[in-house]
Amino acid sequence: MRVLLVEDDSEICANLYDYLASRGHQVDAASNGLVALHLASSHGFDAIVLDLGLPGMDGLTFAQRLRRDARLATPILMLTARDTLDDKLAGFEAGADDYLVKPYAMKEVEARLLALVRRAQGRVVDDRLRLGQLEYDPASGELRWRGRQVTLPPKSMQLLVALLRRPGQLFSRAELEVLLWGEEQATSDALRTHIAQVRRALQGEDGRCPLVTVHGRGYRLVDPDA
Ligand code: CA
Repeated sequence: MRVLLVEDDSEICANLYDYLASRGHQVDAASNGLVALHLASSHGFDAIVLDLGLPGMDGLTFAQRLRRDARLATPILMLTARDTLDDKLAGFEAGADDYLVKPYAMKEVEARLLALVRRAQGRVVDDRLRLGQLEYDPASGELRWRGRQVTLPPKSMQLLVALLRRPGQLFSRAELEVLLWGEEQATSDALRTHIAQVRRALQGEDGRCPLVTVHGRGYRLVDPDA
């Protein structure tokens, strides 16, 4: 990737430059915000590493001007010695995409930059399904409920995912049977078994469960914490 370093400390800059270049990236550097703005607008960089404490135009102003004046969406990884929440929030408000507090590992700088670039190129699409604290990631097949991972047999998982795609919607038994088994006839107890399995996996100590029975009509998924 092509990276622009915006850092006034020549030693820090040289370290970052050497490391990223040794990893095969094309690196350019600027020691102040004005030069950096010019470079960023005239060259196409994949990502920018930005020091917050710069002489003249500070890092936050640079980020703002990059977004507002130059209208560039180049991902920014902000580096700073300050680690208060206020600085972080100000950084994100100014247009930074990620943030590392000094001292940081070079490897982490590179990893974060690669992640930012991938995200910017749209290769990482967040297609997770969520309802309150229930979350399913189709990419990994992982289901999480109230922060912990939950495992289910394949059919029960399929049932839950079908419900999770339409939170709140009422599904009749017949609809769910078709979703799970297609037109082939399931035994009358099969659906009940999977419903019970999902319920066991998700029932909290407080007795509340996202899977709700609507008597005589079917089932739906709700957020019990809402
Ligand atoms: Ca500095």
